[in-house]
Amino acid sequence: MERDYFLASAIVSPRNVADVQAIVRLANEISFPLWPISIGRNSGYGGAAPRVSGSIVMSMGRNLNKVLEVNVEGAYCVVEPEFLIVGHEGVTFQDLYDYLLANNLRDQLWIDVPDHGGGSVLGNSTERGVGYTPYGDHWMMHCGMEVVLPNGELLRTGMGALPDPKRPETVNLDPEDQPWNKTAHTFPYGFGPYIDGLFSQSNMGIVTKLGMWLMPNPGGYQSYLITLPKDDDLKQAVDIIRPLRLNMALQNVPTIRHILLDAAALGSKTSYSSKTEPLSNDDLNKIAKQLNLGRWNFYGALYGPEQIRKGLWETIKGAFSVIPGVKFYFPEDTPKNSILRVRDKTMQGIPTYDELKWIDWVPNGAHLFFSPIGKVSGEDAMLQYGITKKRCKEAGLDFIGTFTVGMREMHHIVDIVFNKKDPEQRKKAQWLIRTLIDDCAANGWGEYRTHLAVMDQIMGTYNWNNGSLLKFNEVIKDAVDPNGIIAPGKSGVWPTRYIQEGWKL
Ligand code: ADP
Repeated sequence: MERDYFLASAIVSPRNVADVQAIVRLANEISFPLWPISIGRNSGYGGAAPRVSGSIVMSMGRNLNKVLEVNVEGAYCVVEPEFLIVGHEGVTFQDLYDYLLANNLRDQLWIDVPDHGGGSVLGNSTERGVGYTPYGDHWMMHCGMEVVLPNGELLRTGMGALPDPKRPETVNLDPEDQPWNKTAHTFPYGFGPYIDGLFSQSNMGIVTKLGMWLMPNPGGYQSYLITLPKDDDLKQAVDIIRPLRLNMALQNVPTIRHILLDAAALGSKTSYSSKTEPLSNDDLNKIAKQLNLGRWNFYGALYGPEQIRKGLWETIKGAFSVIPGVKFYFPEDTPKNSILRVRDKTMQGIPTYDELKWIDWVPNGAHLFFSPIGKVSGEDAMLQYGITKKRCKEAGLDFIGTFTVGMREMHHIVDIVFNKKDPEQRKKAQWLIRTLIDDCAANGWGEYRTHLAVMDQIMGTYNWNNGSLLKFNEVIKDAVDPNGIIAPGKSGVWPTRYIQEGWKL
């Protein structure tokens, strides 16, 4: 098989941590590559496929799916690779949400969800995925991990490394069943080198449990939409957003969405235009008018009791009002099927399934995410948008994208939507992402996460001082996984043997 064709040879579903350890030990004996997934959606980044064809995919979430704890006082939960209400199939962020509802906990604790409610809490968080409440940086909000190391040993990080005092009822339990230290999910760092990062976007171990902080119900909520009429309003808007986000007047992870992202979630390209080539400025203006949206649309939310929300809204509204033609909406001001009504749920941690309709923008739609990080600066945003828009056009594809605003940076998510049955478009989509990676690196921008096919290329751009980052990762990889059995090639980190065999793409 070609080395860029990603196919598993088999799938195994361990029933418990001991199974994971047994599989890992066996894989070591025969030097066989394993590829752990939780649910395996990983949408836009390669799905459930392994980087090395023929790997055994370990479907961690199939059986390791328990809610281990929801702690109201400490506002955290502990989950296995997938979080499932016993007896349910379909194991997602949705289930965590349903669990809170079923146990009358939602009035106390909120979860944070990504755009699509169908992924796994653990998978998304270890991949450093984002959501849109104030707890939108999932990795920032994790606290305490349990990991099966490549040699089969079980490790708990942070305060989890400190044993819970022995009690008669726990003294004979296997390590994986022992209670966590009482501060394991309230203080992330423990003592000594902080190694949690080694188990995110990585191939250094298989995560079997994860602590996540949950947001206390803020006691009031209001989502809103601010429409920006012109394409280059992006510049001014981003400069307005920066101080508001830094001083937390913008409390959540808001998004600045290009008109076509909203349009594509509401209808296919043919429902707006008979063109097959990329839409023009005029076409986009027409669509914006038709949907009563801006060329850019800013979705945010206010959290807290009414007087707090009122104060924040005055600040935010006042700051944006300097942009000519800007308009402000609450969900009830918009049509029944509006994106604001979907975001209204997402930004309060209610899972939704509406947004992936983007994919149907073209017939037989499939998508790839290109996700560079940028400063929260109008100039940088315009430059990054300009480069990606131009390259999309050269590839014959529409620019569909959004900026999600973190504390001090933006994830610019460009959704490369293409017809997967059209070999020409497939080729162009590949050309596009590869070209954009190089273009962005030349401007000092790197991606936060990526598809299997371009992991090597992206790791190759993180090459400061003769690639010291990758070299360090490779040393660790060989040390902890000498047989190279866990997810070889994940994030461009390869065991020596695979480097010698020329596996890098
Ligand atoms: P989701 O279904 O939420 O999109 P996935 O289950 O597809 O997430 O996981 C995304 C990626 O995260 C996987 O391809 C894998 O590299 C990594 N991953 C997921 N679960 C684990 C785990 N338990 N241990 C180590 N890595 C994992």
